[in-house]
Amino acid sequence: MRYAETGVNLEIDLTEGKIDKTETDQRLMKLHLGGNGTAARIIWDRVSPEATAFSPENLLIFSTGLLVGTPVPACNRTMVDTISPQTNFFSHSIFGGYFGPELKHAGYDKIIIHGKAQNLVYLWIHNDKVEIRDASHLKGKGAQETAWIIKEELKDPRIQVAAIGLAGENRLFMSTIEHSNASASRGVGVIMGDKRLKAIAVRGTKDFSVFNPEALFQLCLKHSQDIHASPFNGDLMAIEWNDAFHHDNFAWGNARVRRKGFWNQELEDKWKDYTLKIRDRLQGCYNCPKNCHLVVKPPGRQRYILKCFGKGTWHMAAFKDLTFTFDILALSQEYGVDSYSGPQTIAFAIELFDAGILTDKDLPDFPDDSGDRFYYLLEMLVRRKGIGDVLANGVYAAARQIGNGAEAYDHNTIKKFEQIPLKLGKVNYPYYLMYCTSDKMAINQTEGSFPQDPVKEIADRQQFVDEWISAPERFKKYFMEWEPRTHPSVEAAVNICDWNETMHYVDDALGICAFCSSFRGQFGGGSAYHIYNIPTFINLATGMDMDADDLWQVARRNRNLVRSINISRGLKKGDEKPPENHWKKREPEKEQELLDAYYKFKGWTKEGIPTSPTLQRLGLDDIAKAFIEKGILKGDEDICYVDQSCYSEGRKKEPVTAVRKAENFTLTDYLSKNKEPGR
Ligand code: SF4
Repeated sequence: MRYAETGVNLEIDLTEGKIDKTETDQRLMKLHLGGNGTAARIIWDRVSPEATAFSPENLLIFSTGLLVGTPVPACNRTMVDTISPQTNFFSHSIFGGYFGPELKHAGYDKIIIHGKAQNLVYLWIHNDKVEIRDASHLKGKGAQETAWIIKEELKDPRIQVAAIGLAGENRLFMSTIEHSNASASRGVGVIMGDKRLKAIAVRGTKDFSVFNPEALFQLCLKHSQDIHASPFNGDLMAIEWNDAFHHDNFAWGNARVRRKGFWNQELEDKWKDYTLKIRDRLQGCYNCPKNCHLVVKPPGRQRYILKCFGKGTWHMAAFKDLTFTFDILALSQEYGVDSYSGPQTIAFAIELFDAGILTDKDLPDFPDDSGDRFYYLLEMLVRRKGIGDVLANGVYAAARQIGNGAEAYDHNTIKKFEQIPLKLGKVNYPYYLMYCTSDKMAINQTEGSFPQDPVKEIADRQQFVDEWISAPERFKKYFMEWEPRTHPSVEAAVNICDWNETMHYVDDALGICAFCSSFRGQFGGGSAYHIYNIPTFINLATGMDMDADDLWQVARRNRNLVRSINISRGLKKGDEKPPENHWKKREPEKEQELLDAYYKFKGWTKEGIPTSPTLQRLGLDDIAKAFIEKGILKGDEDICYVDQSCYSEGRKKEPVTAVRKAENFTLTDYLSKNKEPGR
């Protein structure tokens, strides 16, 4: 009997039009859990390092997390993994909503897509019945429009659809896969478009088993109520009106201008009024008691669901206001353009025009107003028209193709990928490490468990750590020692980076929403899921016997597996650096020390390659062997990772499943109370 997973993957060969159902090896669940862990294993096994992103050999894998579709609340994430054409590395994306649970109830853990269709197709999965269907009538249709057409033609509004828009069809590197209130970005929509797969529609009505249904259900009922009551969980951007944090600290335009003091009460009132005017309702994801998503209907546009920080990125890139964002999102989400890299690419083009590098010849009749320029460039981008064809490959590649000094305006890419334009005054040690070494290509997929800012008063710090259920003891010590205007030590920074990334790897294997887990600890230290309580949910759902240390080990294994894929595809230490003037004040020697210390801690060589002892101890012997055969490792490296037990500082192995309580907590309160002076 398989528990929590169906034990079946769907294999789709789009070149041959073949559909297979394969039973999976249960040992993989023990080694990698599910989600992006098992997807990484499949990519390592089946996509050669020489295969390019656009080769038919590249796989596009939709994975449900191991706990998705079980009674465990807020476990609804679908992971999408492939090789990105922008970076040539492992590309990992996640989306919430309803798709993953529906797929699991249709009887599948994963959809593994390979090959390329000759003409545009869509996939229809209805329990055991799976079809590749003609999608020529969907060509050029918006992502949401596509979902509605498919639901209508299949005569079932309960079908869940993930679709690309025009951007994906035209292989924009920043294209997304859109689904209801969520989307997958970071290099996956482009592969769906390359494979000429317009959409996947799923309807599932089958059951699958969990190991101890009664105990799991009782626990989840209580947990769901706790999450509902907890102010620490969910995406607070949907309900907080004060957004000084992003507007004052993040960069505007082409990721360089910080407008400190931009936020004020008048603006807050104005934006709140407008949001309430166009807001229909709040909406959530499958089996989650939170309502994180705004359903909006701006004047003259269709109704749509706002996603996360898309609320800020468009108007900040265009130096406009919130009404601009709500308006352009109605269009960009239909086209399926990512709200992080899309606006940055357009802002980059505008800067090139203002600098005379792009001219009227490239941008005929280019408007004066920055908002109009955004609409103009969005159309060129999604159609790959004129200069849009160059920009569609992302800032890094476009800058080099345009030349004539354009490279100097590529100021916000790491590993050739546009980063969230977090702009701080001085280098921040844990953030330096997260930016440089993450394989997730976005800081919000790496940060989150450890607070962003120190707390001023010792008594407040003590109260904070006393209530901090989720933290292994050493992090409480680091937090107690952290004074305003100082950095955490190198040792602390390395551990913080490690903890933050580990928790995301846990979530991405299980399908837990980061807004209730890995992303939430940083704001007040209260997240519904953490390293100490997640094993209880896993054990009741799967019948495994896992504790916090075992779980950390799985996440470490998955992290090293993805690292190994990237190393085999050419990732070098030299790639692991933030943009030159990412922070105003840099500390080159300290940065080097941090990177060296981090590599050592992880059990990697001085060049950042996982060593044989590290790989072997993680059960990845075949990767160690492959690295030695290829000359990537000599095999005599004697470094292994630092194994910090979750219980080593005296923590008891008692299952704690409670959610931290807080009185009168808001994100605004937390940020203003704990703000480091001068940041
Ligand atoms: S917390 Fe919000 S984003 Fe996360 S699953 Fe719940 S509704 Fe969705």
